Amino acid sequence: MEQFPLFISLQNRRVLIVGGGSVAARKARTILGSGARIVVVSPNVCMALTDLIHAKRITHEARTYTAGDATHFWLSIAATDDEAVNAQVAYDAISVNALVNVTDEPQLGNVSFASIVDRAPLTIAISTGGHSPLLARLIRARIAAFIPSSYAVLTQMAGDYRDSVKQTFQSIGQRRRFWENVLTGPIAQQVLSGNEQRARTMLAAQLSDRSNNEIPSPSHSKDAPAGEVYLVGAGPGDPDLLTFRALRLMHQADVVLHDRLVSDEVLSLCPPEAEYIYVGKRRSEHTMAQDTINDTLLQHAKAGKRVLRLKGGDPFIFGRGGEEIETLTDAGVRFEVVPGITAASGCASYAGIPLTHRDHAQSCVFVTGHLKHGELVLNWDHLVQPNQTVVCYMGLTALAELCEKLMTHGLPADTPAALIERGTTQHQRVFTGTIDSLPTLVARTAVKAPTLIIIGSVVRLRDKLQWFTPVSANDQATIGK
Ligand code: SAH
Repeated sequence: MEQFPLFISLQNRRVLIVGGGSVAARKARTILGSGARIVVVSPNVCMALTDLIHAKRITHEARTYTAGDATHFWLSIAATDDEAVNAQVAYDAISVNALVNVTDEPQLGNVSFASIVDRAPLTIAISTGGHSPLLARLIRARIAAFIPSSYAVLTQMAGDYRDSVKQTFQSIGQRRRFWENVLTGPIAQQVLSGNEQRARTMLAAQLSDRSNNEIPSPSHSKDAPAGEVYLVGAGPGDPDLLTFRALRLMHQADVVLHDRLVSDEVLSLCPPEAEYIYVGKRRSEHTMAQDTINDTLLQHAKAGKRVLRLKGGDPFIFGRGGEEIETLTDAGVRFEVVPGITAASGCASYAGIPLTHRDHAQSCVFVTGHLKHGELVLNWDHLVQPNQTVVCYMGLTALAELCEKLMTHGLPADTPAALIERGTTQHQRVFTGTIDSLPTLVARTAVKAPTLIIIGSVVRLRDKLQWFTPVSANDQATIGK
């Protein structure tokens, strides 16, 4: 992180703005909302600043900056068009460990300003560390569209009841659940529809119900919430491919069980305070046996935790999701399954290969290249049908055998084939050839798992379509035809 975001309280703090132009005026207006006492030092000031001075909202000293001025302020902003003055302001502030921002040259100072979505007391700040203020503004506009101004009321209300809720519920878990219900349920809906008073009445009623019924009791009493398991498909890698439901459940997890296929970017969207358990599995590296995974899910759920089982792609496609929920059903533990984008869909789209196409393939078959006792056991006659796409998961080791068997069973040697390495991520590479040439092409390169193989004439369409795929052309290497 180039810069660490912090929110500072400027109430009644003295803030210096050096400069009298429109940039200085903009900064003054933004900072005024914080309750700071602003002093503008500049021989001349623009109209916007004059208005603020006449309204006595800021103080003006009509003079040039004198070396050392900034040492008397908590925060200084150098917004002149004179580089030497700006540098002097920065030097003075930094010499006394004060905060300073130089609007034209952020690297001279020690703080930068974020684009702000102001729903005070809720504040959302977006920063690109000075790399692209325009991008920060565009993102700000998007976020602002999603966070209506009534969130200010919701935040205020939550703050007003914070202490009472703390007194009513002893454990952090109970408090968290109470607030989740309030903030995502009918009470929040009332606030967002403009009925603040009704929302407050409902909240107070829930709280007093709760405190009347509350028996001071250990956490394992019948009041302890029942745990549950969310079996969530995390998609093939790009976090943009998560579903809304996946994201919502990820946010409320107490324990996260994840495997190797779940990307770091996706994992970083789970709560930092959750307990993380890595369960494997790399080929030949079964970090945790399936039975142990099933047991771990069960134990945590029985302890009242909300357990997130994050799986690459879709949990029900070569994901053993079925086995995990069988254990839970047998034990009577509540669970929810959330589908994810399976590797075949994700990789195909990001590589520019449609899995079906009216002129090329009317069916598509997903198979696993996982070896059983060192052998590839598949229904070969079914796989060599014309006008069909074959997608092979877990097929890297068996690639040569897969292609050879398809040829022996009658699939023409010039049938196009592609291998997609780490599909949908920034590291995606696509190797294309035929079933005859692909194994040799791939063997020449150090290919990293996970990889997916697509076989069929749809692969040819990539030549036309790859330029419109989300991963940029530079991230892809097409080797051979
Ligand atoms: N449940 C997963 C599949 C698990 S099996 C899903 O629906 O996608 C693991 C195999 O999935 C890997 O060996 C590989 O063949 C494929 N796979 C998963 N993510 C992938 C990715 N980002 N790129 C290429 N292949 C991927």
